[in-house]
Amino acid sequence: MKIEAHKSLQKYNTFGIDVKAKHFVSVKSIAELKNVISLKKYPNHFILGGGSNILFTKDIDALVIHLNLKGISIEKETEDHLYIKAMAGENWHEFVLYCIKNNYGGIENLSLIPGNLGTTPIQNIGAYGVELKDVFYECEAFDLKTKTQKCFSKTDCEFGYRNSIFKNSAKDKYIITSVTLKLTKKNHRLNYSYGAITDQLKKENTDLNIKAISKAVINIRQSKIPNPKEIGNSGSFFKNPIINSRAFSQFQKQYPQAPFYKLSEEHYKVPAGWLIEQTGFKGKRFGDAGVHKNQALVLVNYGSATGLEILNLAKNIQEQVSKKFNITLEPEVNIL
Ligand SMILES: Cc1cc2nc3c(=O)[nH]c(=O)nc-3n(C[C@H](O)[C@H](O)[C@H](O)COP(=O)(O)OP(=O)(O)OC[C@H]3O[C@@H](n4cnc5c(N)ncnc54)[C@H](O)[C@@H]3O)c2cc1C
Repeated sequence: MKIEAHKSLQKYNTFGIDVKAKHFVSVKSIAELKNVISLKKYPNHFILGGGSNILFTKDIDALVIHLNLKGISIEKETEDHLYIKAMAGENWHEFVLYCIKNNYGGIENLSLIPGNLGTTPIQNIGAYGVELKDVFYECEAFDLKTKTQKCFSKTDCEFGYRNSIFKNSAKDKYIITSVTLKLTKKNHRLNYSYGAITDQLKKENTDLNIKAISKAVINIRQSKIPNPKEIGNSGSFFKNPIINSRAFSQFQKQYPQAPFYKLSEEHYKVPAGWLIEQTGFKGKRFGDAGVHKNQALVLVNYGSATGLEILNLAKNIQEQVSKKFNITLEPEVNIL
């Protein structure tokens, strides 16, 4: 375990922002994690997973702990299900592919989401009609106060849309060290209700199974979302706003052509990408910071944008959307 000083984090965040960590360490076991947390010389910590949901706007004046805990194990099996545990540093998409190869169903719609296992409960990752909570069983986390491991059940996690207890009352209090999912071994419940998946499956004309759904999702994502290895980004920068029925009926009167998704009698979700597009930001570039040409919800770093330049662009978008629609856009990305 080597603690480095003034380490560039450019390679450790998908926006490719060049900030420095005052100190940096990569930990490979819970024992190493506990050891490093107890070092009096480094009282402030920042936990880093895959760096795909972070916008760094300044150097990090702390010990950045890169969680590199690895391992996958089957905890329990029934005739229909298995409880599979993965350590926090496992790459999410590689884990999805591993599950598909072994015919474990439930996470195929979440293919190609960047980042690590340990971070998936924090914002209850979701895509194409499935959220982590649909397959989540429990997670283990290191309690920074008591210095012990604690188990969080699905109820404990208080999952919501891109939300959980780890973004609220448990924020910065725990380090998630492993996640256990309950997946199906047979009679998989396939979810292809999203129009784009159905279209893609028709195009590919293959049997309907978890592998075909994963492949369809990968193809759709590759055609829509820029690859962070080619152009720095953090996926959707903002959450899709959820508005109440009163605000929605006013909005719809003014913009009858606007797409929406009815969540309940009381709540409607409006695509943030559409709102941004209407304010003319899609494809716009300001220096090296910009809004992607095909996906208005994705802010990009064309090369050497600073985190502050991306943040200013995000603020500008929020202001214009608020002015035009009276709707507040909330960032999905963690801004530091
Ligand atoms: C191209 C692209 C597409 C994306 N598409 C989607 C999508 O479809 N759906 C979706 O939900 N998300 C999507 N995302 C967002 C992102 O992939 C997820 O939020 C992912 O779970 C972040 O994981 P990470 O390991 O990279 O987190 P990081 O960015 O490393 O960390 C995020 C936050 O969690 C904290 N943290 C990290 N690990 C731990 C831990 N073990 N314990 C406690 N705190 C921790 C960090 O301190 C930070 O505050 C996308 C991102 C990109 C770049």
